[in-house]
Amino acid sequence: MQAVGTDPDAVRYLINSHLHFDHTGGNALLPNARLVVQRREWEAGQRDDEIQRNFFFPGDYRTGQDVLQVDGEHDLFGDGRVVCIPTHGHTPGHQSLRLRLDDGNVVLTGDACYLRRTLDELRLPNLAADPEQMLASLQRLRALRDAGARIFYGHDPDFWATVPQAPREIVLR
Ligand SMILES: [Zn+2]
Repeated sequence: MQAVGTDPDAVRYLINSHLHFDHTGGNALLPNARLVVQRREWEAGQRDDEIQRNFFFPGDYRTGQDVLQVDGEHDLFGDGRVVCIPTHGHTPGHQSLRLRLDDGNVVLTGDACYLRRTLDELRLPNLAADPEQMLASLQRLRALRDAGARIFYGHDPDFWATVPQAPREIVLR
């Protein structure tokens, strides 16, 4: 972030899709940000049985920031540009992020959709807290894709090879 001129201490919001280590391991690096997470995910992250079942590491997300727990869809700034959308299933309260950029919509799916193929074939991975909910979430993401949103598949190396890396800007068309 410093390399592209952004001071980590000045970041105001940190949105976690879910509490797995590879999505929260950097939380401590943004000490002044308000953490935005689905309430049901945050609550699962405080319960010993859910921590074990979901392989959470509380040290990654209990890092002292103020926590904004949201329920379902949440328009962060009230202008439709940054909207948390519930995509539960991979974990109890996984969320995705819909961004309205000047040239179109982007959806950051985190682990709700690892690969393009996951969405094309509606094929679930072996690891899902609630497979039925995860399938419903994939169907929601598919509807967003059908409506023209560009989907960012969380862990698809072929997809990520096509995405410009910072400081280059993402241009949709
Ligand atoms: Zn995950």
